[in-house]
Amino acid sequence: PLPALAVVGRPNVGKSTLVNRIIGRREAVVQDKPGVTRDRVTYEAEWAGRRFKVVDTGGWEQDVLGLDASVAAQAEFAIEAADAVVFVVDATVGATDTDEAVVRLLRRAGKPVVLAANKVDGMSGESDAAALWSLGLGEPFPISALHGRGTGDLLDEILKAL
Ligand code: GDP
Ligand code: MG
Repeated sequence: PLPALAVVGRPNVGKSTLVNRIIGRREAVVQDKPGVTRDRVTYEAEWAGRRFKVVDTGGWEQDVLGLDASVAAQAEFAIEAADAVVFVVDATVGATDTDEAVVRLLRRAGKPVVLAANKVDGMSGESDAAALWSLGLGEPFPISALHGRGTGDLLDEILKAL
């Protein structure tokens, strides 16, 4: 079986946009309102000649469980099934309490994690990305999932973790 990469993070940080970048297609559902991805969706991807699975997560039962519990529950399932995890944070917002809760889950799971500091569309966002060292997950990779900036370096790092 192919190694599996889980993409986790709060609603609206750009997980599905990143998944589209990684798979090179416009398939994962991206929308301006949070919580659009139903359940977990798996795609196949290839980078530098290596094939792997990408699992997008997002959006169920937010109003039933509450945001934190919902994000955490989905992340937990996805992490369990994954060989490595990309944790996506919106660098323009910075780390929230929900992000911190996911970090605790990631620590407990002990899987390799690559931290993607998304929405760094230009040079001015680099310092926002650097602020995410505070999460204690190592180097934040500044990316723009929307424009593709930095995603090659991120994928190189992901391959090391898979
Ligand atoms: P998800 O809920 O985490 O899957 O987030 P989506 O991929 O659906 O994206 C949520 C919103 O953020 C959409 O309007 C995207 O176009 C936008 N977005 C995603 N990545 C970027 C980025 O790198 N830069 C900017 N400016 N917007 C982004
Ligand atoms: Mg999504």
